[in-house]
Amino acid sequence: MRDVTAAMTEAFPTEDPLLLIPGPSDVADDVLAEMARQVVPHYGPEWTAFFNSVVQRTKWVLQTKNDLFIYAGSGHLGLDAVIASLFEPGDSVVVGCNGYFGERLYELAIDQELKAIKIDVPWGEPLTVEVVESVLDAHPEVSGVLVVHGETSTGVENPVEAIANVVRNRGLLFVVDAVSSAGLIPLEVDAWGIDACVTASQKGLSAPPGVVITTVGPRAWAAVDKRRVPIRGWSTNLAKWREFGDRDYQPYFITMPVNVVRALDVSLRTIEKEGLHARFERHRAVSEYLRRGIRELGLEMVCHDAHALAPVTAFRCPSGKTAHQVRDELLSEAGVHVSPGLGPWNKDVVRVGLMGRNATFGTVERFLTALKGIVGRL
Ligand SMILES: *Cc1c(COP(=O)(O)O)cnc(C)c1O
Repeated sequence: MRDVTAAMTEAFPTEDPLLLIPGPSDVADDVLAEMARQVVPHYGPEWTAFFNSVVQRTKWVLQTKNDLFIYAGSGHLGLDAVIASLFEPGDSVVVGCNGYFGERLYELAIDQELKAIKIDVPWGEPLTVEVVESVLDAHPEVSGVLVVHGETSTGVENPVEAIANVVRNRGLLFVVDAVSSAGLIPLEVDAWGIDACVTASQKGLSAPPGVVITTVGPRAWAAVDKRRVPIRGWSTNLAKWREFGDRDYQPYFITMPVNVVRALDVSLRTIEKEGLHARFERHRAVSEYLRRGIRELGLEMVCHDAHALAPVTAFRCPSGKTAHQVRDELLSEAGVHVSPGLGPWNKDVVRVGLMGRNATFGTVERFLTALKGIVGRL
């Protein structure tokens, strides 16, 4: 057992690594500086006017006019709220499972006592319209479809726009986990017809962790309003969020992480200046450069380029090393922090996140030089 007194005197290492994990990601200095400002109340006309402007900016990133909530919590809280509020215990839903976060969505649905049916696709491959349609054909009882946009565990982008089309045609509710995609790759909540979309501050929006972002469209509200069984819980009850969300004095009846919201605002302004299209292009170009560089070192990608999720790249370890060894060596020798794979890929796969300010060619070069040092020694 660890010596408690010793542990209490330990500080986090003073030198910050270059954070190339698949989120959270390093944030810009002006975003960090905003965090250091004094605490303000989460109510009152000043806060409400400011908060509403942040909501508007975030709606622009997600390309939506639907209701959008910025709430205290991480991505999972928003997913829990959506699942608990749109569906009733016993409802059937179909869940896309081609990685760890798809499995997680399935787990969240089961926790809410839904009958969840998996769309099983091997890790490293994307969901396809065909497989979604065949599962829906076999299960006419389902009322909704839940998918992950960017499968952070495998670095695969699922074809959400095409799947949305199928789901729309069948009149089912469509829920998307866009935690690792929103703000980094194209995502159009309204044009594609996403009924509820969840992301968080710390990945594609390049702010510190602390708030979850959830969009709720008219079909989703209709499902909330026609429930027979009341929504259980309080913090994860979208009807409660809505009830308070339209007041002009206090957006929510919980205390908000005001500093995170302010930091998010600074980051959103930077995203606005760059423009969404330019931001998406930058992430795409840098990701291609990274993939080419990793391959030139003789290493293998876990997914085909055609399905690659720009902000998260996953590759197989050099033989003779585990993912944890690669992680430890990159961190101690080069100050570069990457992540091992998740679940069954924990030993053999390394994941690199390039998000926001770290999505640059210079960052890729620093990473590749460090990786080359490790591969060259083998
Ligand atoms: C990071 C991530 C999550 C988890 O979000 P939290 O903010 O940690 O709750 C969920 N889904 C995906 C796809 C992610 O990348």
